[in-house]
Amino acid sequence: MLSSAMTQGAAPWELEFDWHLTNKCNFFCEYCHPQIRHVLNRKHLDEPPPELVVRRFEELGRSCLIHMSGGEPFMYPGFVELCHGLTTRNFISINTNLASDDVEDFAARVPADRVAKIVAAVHMPERERLALELDAYAGNYLALRRRGFDVTALYVLYPPLLERVAGDIARLKELGVDHVRAKVFKGVYEGRRYPEGYTEAERALILANSGEYVFNRPYLDGMLSFRGQRCTAGVTSFKVTVTGEVRRCASVASSYGNLYDGTFRPAQEYDPCPARRVLVLSQCLSYLVNPPAHTAADRDDEE
Ligand code: SF4
Repeated sequence: MLSSAMTQGAAPWELEFDWHLTNKCNFFCEYCHPQIRHVLNRKHLDEPPPELVVRRFEELGRSCLIHMSGGEPFMYPGFVELCHGLTTRNFISINTNLASDDVEDFAARVPADRVAKIVAAVHMPERERLALELDAYAGNYLALRRRGFDVTALYVLYPPLLERVAGDIARLKELGVDHVRAKVFKGVYEGRRYPEGYTEAERALILANSGEYVFNRPYLDGMLSFRGQRCTAGVTSFKVTVTGEVRRCASVASSYGNLYDGTFRPAQEYDPCPARRVLVLSQCLSYLVNPPAHTAADRDDEE
């Protein structure tokens, strides 16, 4: 791992895990990844108890960043207790929709300096369908910010939302949401595959509204495969599925055992990437041994 895929900075931890900890979700977004949407609230809903997972990470004997996504992490049974336990020796980060009554309890009980990042997805269509006010989202966001958490709002640039994205982001800013990023949609909409399917005008709109998100440009430039290049994923970074199986990354399913039953063993050597198309570019650009330049600053450095 050259840098953290979660913070894009140098990592004070040795291992990084991207853990899909639950299939439960209180939202049902149209643009959720199809493989995830298909199993939401339907399959593998028997998550392990928090104390087992905390113990398994501690048994690794190395400092870890445990990034949690799903599903909605706050719907994991005993989620605040889980975070409290994990942060005794490790760091965490979370992707959440912030639509939980437990956010204030989390903010009070989990140490902010052990939470590397909270990415708080806005999901406007679902908030409107469920009559969840944006003010409530902003209230939870600000409760976390007041306690010193690094929180960023996330807006998914699903094609039908492009015409409203600028207005929604302006409203978030009015409500005090001071860190916002908007990221490209990856998937198929009306027969077109994205991110390749955006028109020139849409691409310009996206780049103007990306906020703090640095990966839209490389996605739009078609940086979608690193096949054959050496990558540290599988040695120092991993994907953990909802059943505890440990894989190389979000895009490569090579297995390294199971975290929950204690059979997880990392690889010892950096292998070439076998993926024809990557799913999570931030992982590749952080974990490749020789990543390509991808930000404006990187490109300037090369000139
Ligand atoms: S897709 Fe390939 S380059 Fe990207 S993190 Fe996985 S192994 Fe590394």
